[in-house]
Amino acid sequence: MTNQNPTDRLRNQIKEVVEELHLSPSVYQILKYPKHTFSVSIPLEKDDGTVENFTGYRAVHSDLLGPGKGGIRFHPDVNQEEVIALSMWMTLKTAILKLPFGGAKGGIIVDPNKLSKRELQQLSRQYVQNIEPVIGPQKDIPAPDVNTDGRVMGWMMDEFFKLRGRNVPGFITGKPPVIGGSEGRVEATGHGVVVNILQAMNKLGMDKGDNKVAIQGFGNVGSVTAQTLYEKGLNVVAVADIDAMVYDEEGLNIPEMIDYAKENGSLKGYTSNENSNEIFEVDCDIFVPAALENQITEQTAPKLKASIVAEAANGPTSGEGDQILAEKGVFVIPDILCNAGGVMVSSFEWMQNDSHDHWAEEVVNDRLEKDMAKAFEEVFSMKEANNETMRHAAYYLAVKRLGDAMFARGWVD
Ligand code: GLU
Repeated sequence: MTNQNPTDRLRNQIKEVVEELHLSPSVYQILKYPKHTFSVSIPLEKDDGTVENFTGYRAVHSDLLGPGKGGIRFHPDVNQEEVIALSMWMTLKTAILKLPFGGAKGGIIVDPNKLSKRELQQLSRQYVQNIEPVIGPQKDIPAPDVNTDGRVMGWMMDEFFKLRGRNVPGFITGKPPVIGGSEGRVEATGHGVVVNILQAMNKLGMDKGDNKVAIQGFGNVGSVTAQTLYEKGLNVVAVADIDAMVYDEEGLNIPEMIDYAKENGSLKGYTSNENSNEIFEVDCDIFVPAALENQITEQTAPKLKASIVAEAANGPTSGEGDQILAEKGVFVIPDILCNAGGVMVSSFEWMQNDSHDHWAEEVVNDRLEKDMAKAFEEVFSMKEANNETMRHAAYYLAVKRLGDAMFARGWVD
């Protein structure tokens, strides 16, 4: 697989699996492009009175299995192609987890650190005003993603209620629990990653005590994953964020690092930091990419020493990187399975909103653990039966479910 952008790579992977499964070629034609992509321009009045125009997107790739579902990302590198790829991954993710959703994604091209709190809130509200016609609890349901959180979801919910003139809590997930969010949603993605890692270690006969973990990314997903592994007695030896890498072969004090990063905005200055990119060279057994796309590439994959790669980010491995990992015999837990804990608890939130219920945190976490372990088991059994990679097995199961649903709905023969 050569230098391809993520959408083309994804399309090829889907096509391959459609052929292997002997599904109708129409299945591929339907999955090839998003159902719709909405692009909006957001003229924002800044605090100094000037107006700056921001571009935003919302793409629904598929609503075959339920309303579109996926996060909203605020990042300077957001672009339409990326949003589409991310929406396609969501379709596969929700399919593999058997959630009642399709796949969607949104984003705004913005560096949120350069905006004041008022500007950020105003931008979030104007984005919702623009995409209002295409979202809704039975249509397309947003959630947090890179650089967005419960606070942003709260602003967006407030704006949506104003526009509709009534309460519609199920239109967005990842809200703070006080306004209808689910307990455990903030930690859900990281918790799901840890369930996957423990399952993989179990299958490979790896002991918790003598295995070293390195984590790239220390945002929500990276820090919760690190904290949970730390609490479970695993040895997290390296963590990198965008500014620095912190390493200690005896194991890091994760709670202290989380406090430090909160106070200082990053890990820079916490002990003697090294360059972030050194994370790929660290001596470790488990590597967790929890940042952005295309991090494990033909440059970095050869350096990795880990025997498990747990893809906590979406699309962290390029086609070339993936091939190198496969040749090295690395056990890769693919993103569409590994990081699905977030959208899984989003589905719990949506169900709670629908039934005006509020589940206790233990109820949420128990169900997350159980459902995630089951999904891992299904992908693993498929991998074993066909002697293939976890990624291929995951795509196989997801595309099969989508193909079966298209057949059941009379879309294909
Ligand atoms: N942004 C998360 C993801 O990529 C969560 C999406 C959701 O909860 O809808 O899976």
